[in-house]
Amino acid sequence: MTFEALGLHASILKALTDAGYTEPTAVQQQAVPAAIEGRDLLVSSQTGSGKTAAFMLPSLHKFANAEAEQAGKTANQERQSARARGDRPRFQPAQPKMLVLTPTRELALQVTTATDKYGIHMRRVKAVSILGGMPYPKQMQLLSRNPEILVATPGRLIDHMDSGKIDFSQLEILVLDEADRMLDMGFIEDIEKIVAATPATRQTMLFSATLDGVVGSMARRITREPQVIQIASAGNKHENIQQRVHFVDDLSHKNRMLDHLLTDTTMDQAVVFTATKRDADTLADRLNIAGFAAAALHGDMHQGARNRTLNAMRNGQVRVLVATDVAARGIDVPAITHVFNYDLPKFPEDYVHRIGRTGRAGRNGLAISLVNHAEGMNVKRIERFTKQTIPVDVIEGFEPKKTASAPRSARKPGGWKPGAGRSAGGNAGNSAKPGQRTFSKPSAPRKEGGYKGDSPRRSYGDR
Ligand code: AMP
Repeated sequence: MTFEALGLHASILKALTDAGYTEPTAVQQQAVPAAIEGRDLLVSSQTGSGKTAAFMLPSLHKFANAEAEQAGKTANQERQSARARGDRPRFQPAQPKMLVLTPTRELALQVTTATDKYGIHMRRVKAVSILGGMPYPKQMQLLSRNPEILVATPGRLIDHMDSGKIDFSQLEILVLDEADRMLDMGFIEDIEKIVAATPATRQTMLFSATLDGVVGSMARRITREPQVIQIASAGNKHENIQQRVHFVDDLSHKNRMLDHLLTDTTMDQAVVFTATKRDADTLADRLNIAGFAAAALHGDMHQGARNRTLNAMRNGQVRVLVATDVAARGIDVPAITHVFNYDLPKFPEDYVHRIGRTGRAGRNGLAISLVNHAEGMNVKRIERFTKQTIPVDVIEGFEPKKTASAPRSARKPGGWKPGAGRSAGGNAGNSAKPGQRTFSKPSAPRKEGGYKGDSPRRSYGDR
């Protein structure tokens, strides 16, 4: 299927060609036509599936058509509309046409960037992010331009609503992105309040890893005869991401193993997950000393520091990002070939989100969990949740002393290659057949340039 077949506006098709997209992903194929029809949507799909475009392309399509209508108006009408849109007294609240709610600042910024990319050939559509951690005067300035699209985290949005800076009476489209996560983070009351401030006539699109439980009941309350689209099962499996477990005896064994794995020559960039913010700082410090270009990313850092670290990751200055769950949510850096669970996540859902930081846009990825012997039950819980077995592996020279962790699958060396697309048959899966890296003896860590911009030490100072 092509993007043309989805019936999208020519300016959007041009932007997609510019972006190098050749065909819609599964979620886009199903969601775009239904959304263009004006249907409400409930979509269960993972991050990495192309869900941002799934809700943004049909919305931009709608605005592009409105733009074309507008262009047909007389100059006089145009002037009046321009006044109504932007040249208004400062005290008038912003009246967005579309609102995207996201759980984290990083995801909001990513959605805004994607919107700019998809709307690059449209003249008037402007998207702005309204986020916690950003200075209020800057946000007032953004809002005073009366943008068509707001991408926001719930808490800060409520602040602006309460102070009369935003009026949702003209809202046409409401998107809840990663709704399950927003509920996990305790945003339910904020969401209810925001939804209640929008017109009942709006189109609502809800995206979530799951549509069960609390998310499902909220979803049904805020949508009207929604089309339900389930992409999650394939996404949950992350079939293009090879997963494995290495058992470790203690912290020193874990650190040695991590250092060794980070010298893998097939590794481009990696995210290492820790359980706490403090551990993220400590580990990033240690890795820097060991010669890796590492940086920490966690919720105690100021937004500016987080943005700089993410930019340094995107432009390759940082090779190893040591992150906590919330901070890493939504990170989309195509060169991330490896994800390491230095600590296992508390919830199996987070495991799925974590490993989804690699294998972006159809590439292959490798997700490795370093697990203490006592954590075997947690691995089982993840396996039950993902309905997949995660093979246990042993690296020559790094064998755990305890025998309880004998590998469940004997694995042969092979040639795992990151970066190959799905279309190139790059579905490595998790079977024990080829698709396995060569394990070598430990080698000295590379001496990298060493990212200095926001060193982990400075991120302590952010607290
Ligand atoms: P998302 O699930 O929205 O976070 O998107 C994951 C990644 O896939 C992003 O890097 C997008 O730029 C990319 N992407 C989205 N749709 C397509 C497509 N149809 N073809 C290629 N890449 C895509």
